[in-house]
Amino acid sequence: MIITVASFKGGVGKTTTALHLAAFFAERSPAVLLVDGDPNQSSLQWSKRGQLPFQVCSLMAAPKLAAKAEHVIIDTAGNPDQADLEDFSQGSDLVVFPTTATAMAIDALLNMVASLQGLDAYGVVLTMVDSRKKGTAEAARGALTDMGLPVFQQMIRRLTAFEKAELDGVPVSQVRDRFAGIAWREYESLGKEIVDSHG
Ligand code: ADP
Repeated sequence: MIITVASFKGGVGKTTTALHLAAFFAERSPAVLLVDGDPNQSSLQWSKRGQLPFQVCSLMAAPKLAAKAEHVIIDTAGNPDQADLEDFSQGSDLVVFPTTATAMAIDALLNMVASLQGLDAYGVVLTMVDSRKKGTAEAARGALTDMGLPVFQQMIRRLTAFEKAELDGVPVSQVRDRFAGIAWREYESLGKEIVDSHG
């Protein structure tokens, strides 16, 4: 499967989502590639700090490596325009848009609604959801679905285990933190939802 991960606002968990979807597929296949197409190179830096159970490469190295991979996840540059979205749609089986439940992030997505509805297959995932503010996240889900955007059932909670994973250069499943298991299971069930609905 080829999955592109994109966002219209920075800091919404795009890289974290791309990386953990790659980790999800790496549990099912030895041939998983995470392509870092973000000029910030956050995924490549994450991989250099520690060890990941899949290969990470730059956009320029992708064509040859992707040909050998069973699953390719692409972490894109932020804020794609209409032409970028068309490329994403053409180049992948699914485009995943992580978003926080904040007004600015939701507005950024809603501003693109017309372009998004032209995509073949895509879904929105609510990330960094504060457990004490589930209502805010549900309201965000309502606003998105009212506009006709498909939102994955699984939300990703805000947990410091993710920051530790980034620091250690590993997936959250490898972190020593009492919430690491919970954090990993959230991306695992997002991965299962993706495979069930688009795989
Ligand atoms: P983006 O790629 O959209 O800029 P990142 O994935 O780099 O976002 O995340 C931004 C910051 O938030 C990083 O420091 C990351 O470790 C942290 N982060 C991402 N997802 C979560 C989460 N679910 N809970 C807590 N921190 C998170």
